[in-house]
This record gives sequence, C-alpha cells and structure tokens, in this order.
Amino acid sequence: MRYISTRGQAPALNFEDVVLTGLASDGGLYVPEQVPQFSPEQIASFSGQSYAEVAYQIIHPFVGGMIEDATLRTLIEEAYASFAHDAVAPIKQLDTNHFLLELFHGPTLAFKDVALQLLGRLLDHFLGLRNEKAVIMGATSGDTGSAAIEGCKPCAHVDIFILHPHQRVSEVQRRQMTSVLADNVFNIAVEGNFDDAQAMVKASFADQSFLEGRRLIAVNSINWARIMAQIVYYFTSAVAVGAPHREVSFCVPSANFGDVFAGYMAYKMGLPIKQLIVATNANDILHRTLAHNDFSKRELVPTLAPSMDIVVSSNFERLLFDLYQHDGAAVTGLLEQFQQQAMTLDAEAWQRAQQLFSSYCADDATILEVIQDAHQRTGELLDPHTATAYLATQKCRLDTHTPVISLATAHPAKFADAVVQAGFAEAPLPAHMADLLTREERYQVLPADLRTIQEFVRTHKRP
Ligand SMILES: *Cc1c(COP(=O)(O)O)cnc(C)c1O
Repeated sequence: MRYISTRGQAPALNFEDVVLTGLASDGGLYVPEQVPQFSPEQIASFSGQSYAEVAYQIIHPFVGGMIEDATLRTLIEEAYASFAHDAVAPIKQLDTNHFLLELFHGPTLAFKDVALQLLGRLLDHFLGLRNEKAVIMGATSGDTGSAAIEGCKPCAHVDIFILHPHQRVSEVQRRQMTSVLADNVFNIAVEGNFDDAQAMVKASFADQSFLEGRRLIAVNSINWARIMAQIVYYFTSAVAVGAPHREVSFCVPSANFGDVFAGYMAYKMGLPIKQLIVATNANDILHRTLAHNDFSKRELVPTLAPSMDIVVSSNFERLLFDLYQHDGAAVTGLLEQFQQQAMTLDAEAWQRAQQLFSSYCADDATILEVIQDAHQRTGELLDPHTATAYLATQKCRLDTHTPVISLATAHPAKFADAVVQAGFAEAPLPAHMADLLTREERYQVLPADLRTIQEFVRTHKRP
C-alpha cells in the first residue's frame, strides 16, 4: 500500500513513513493511492465479531505488510482494551431508525481516543524497530491534548510535551492532562492564550535545531493513521443496524473533517452509505461549503462545543483530492485561491459531493434547546457536540426508513458548562474517573517565550 500527497509533488510513502510523517513535503496530506475493497460477504461477516477483530481486518490492508500480523493484532487489542465499555463503541436506539454511536468510552471521554490510543502504539512500535526516539509537541485548548497524552503514556520511545493556555482550559480538561504522572509526559501551561501556545509549537516545527536531531512529531488530525482508526466504527455500527443488507446514513459532529472523512473512506471501501450528514457549530465553514459552495475564512467564534471551534477544516483537502480525481495540481490551485480569499469548487465536483453529503449548523442557543429536547424525547443527556448531530439528523435525513447513526463524540460530563446552561445538573464523571478532581497534578507554568519553552523541552526529554 502506497500513500500519495494531495498536492501531487511529494514522494509516495509506505505505511511506516506515513505514520512517522505528518504533513507531506509539498504541504499536502497523505492518502492511500488505492482504497481497499470489502465485499458484501466480508462486511456481513463482521456481524458478531469483537471491535478489535473488525479493527484488525479493516486496518490490515492499509498497513500493507509493514507490521507482522500477530504484532498488529496485539497493538490493536491493547489500544481498545483501554476502553471502559466491552463493546468499545456501543450503539443505542434513540427513535425509529435513529441510533446514537457512543464514541466516548475511552480514557479521556471523547472520540479522539479511538485514534490516539492506536496511533501512540503504532509510533512506538516503528520507533522501537528503528531504535529511534521522538518528541511530540502540541498545543491544545481541550480534547486533543489529553487524548494524545493518554495515547503516548505507554510509549517507551516517545516524550510528549503539551502546551495549554494557563488558566484558560476547564478544570476537568486540565486535570485530564496534568494528572497523568508518567515520566514521558510534560504539561506546560503557557502564560498566554491558545494562539500563543499554538505559535510556540508552530515555530518549533519550523526550526527544529533545538532538538539536536531528535525527530519531532505532530499530533493533529492530519496523520493518516488517525483517519484509518476511525473508519472501523463506521463498519461495526452499520453492520449492527443491518448493513450490508440495507443502506445506512451517518451524522457526524465536524470541525477538521477528519472523522467524517473516515466515513467517506468506509463508503469508498464498499460500505453502503446513503448519506453523510455534516453537523457544525457556529464555526460553519463546512456547512457553507457543502450547502453554498463557499469555502472561506470567517472569524473564530468561541462556542459551547469548543472542540469544533475552527476556522479552516484541514482534512477537507483529502475530499477535494478525491472529488478532483487525484489531480494534485488542481488541489494546489484551489488552495492557492483559498489563501487569497475564498475557494469555489467546480460545479461538477461540488455536485458530486452533494450526492452524498448534506450539512446543518447549530449556534449556541440552538445547542441548548437541542440538549433539552433530546433529553425530553429520549432520556439521553447529550454533550454539546453530539447535540449538533442530533439536530442535523432531524433536519437533513432524506427518509425515516434508512437507519441513521448520529455520532456521540464526547461524554456530557466533559462539558459541564453547556449541560448546566441547558438547565441540568452537572453530569457525573464515569466511575473510573470519579476521583479526577482530587488526583495529584503536575505541570509547569512558563512564559509565552519560545526560547524558554524550547529549552524546557530540550532539557526534559528523556536521554
Ligand atoms: C475533535 C472533535 C470533533 C471534530 O472532529 P473532526 O475530526 O475535527 O471533524 C467533534 N467532537 C468532539 C468532541 C471532538 O473532540
């Protein structure tokens, strides 16, 4: 299996190199050159198998022989053993043919664990074989940082440094990061805002000389292995509600387009998906693009669903590449257009997207109403991200005889603000995290100064 860049200029890579490389050298994102195909019989055989077993079968062709079968199986089994629910990603029925896919049973209570529990182990495996060590640096305002820390905690060859804006993340989110006391985990509270923290990380990637040759890896959603891991639950949940014998639709709370792109991959691999519904909060670039062919930047709006607060959806480039039939020059041209102001897809490409995708956006007031409405109708307390999907499903589904699965991307206990504003008592943390607020914390407060931060990383990484 070879991976090629969406901009058509970078060298093709194998799976190992694609896991260890973030962005392609031409600024593009890596995608598989050919999509593995699953027949209806193969898909039907997933019924009744464990999540880890289905994951192994889905992931196996993407790895392209770069990991021995038995080792791959073990890495996958270990990754999903960290989930608190035996089904890993269980589904619940909400209404006639409307289902909720609970993706929040991992260590940090959000769906990013599904990808990062596996990515950490894949990185560690490949680094170990090469007898190399790596540093991960990332800036976070919430979910990604904690999921990356939990994913890298068991890694012998990775040291992880996560920067968060000091006193500007919620207590639950901070403690999910800072109460991990492993000796390869370093939390830095930057005296500044999220953009300051982000700028420090970007500058460190631009000039890595402070690391004296140690490899620096990013943890954002452009890493192909994250998308790959997320394909699995589209198959397991679709099979549970009747695929491949019937079509299934999905509704996905979206920001960087990574999660819903995994759904698109499942579709390309042979899963009979009728609709992919993209739900956004007030940061609605994806909705504007899919509904009005307007891919343009707007000012960031802080919302009650903060893990979906983005200006640009980086993974949309992967869909563009496919809509433009792997024409890297066309994608490069479009993104240059976008740097100037706004990007408009060719009518033909946009129409192709519209055959599968629909979208809806929810502002904060609507999110609160939906949390109340869903609770009244179903008894479920939805987190604010999942609420956008609950609404978008009702607005966009084409019919009620095709089962539709809304992705529940976070546990409501993680977003107490929205839950309380919607008029509910704070959702309790699940039993395995009940003592989070009294756990010991460790983090370093540092000024928003690049030299200071790089010096901290240089001197604290393990030898
Ligand atoms: C990251 C995140 C999303 C958005 O996922 P993308 O892959 O960026 O589209 C949605 N909900 C939650 C809770 C998240 O953490």
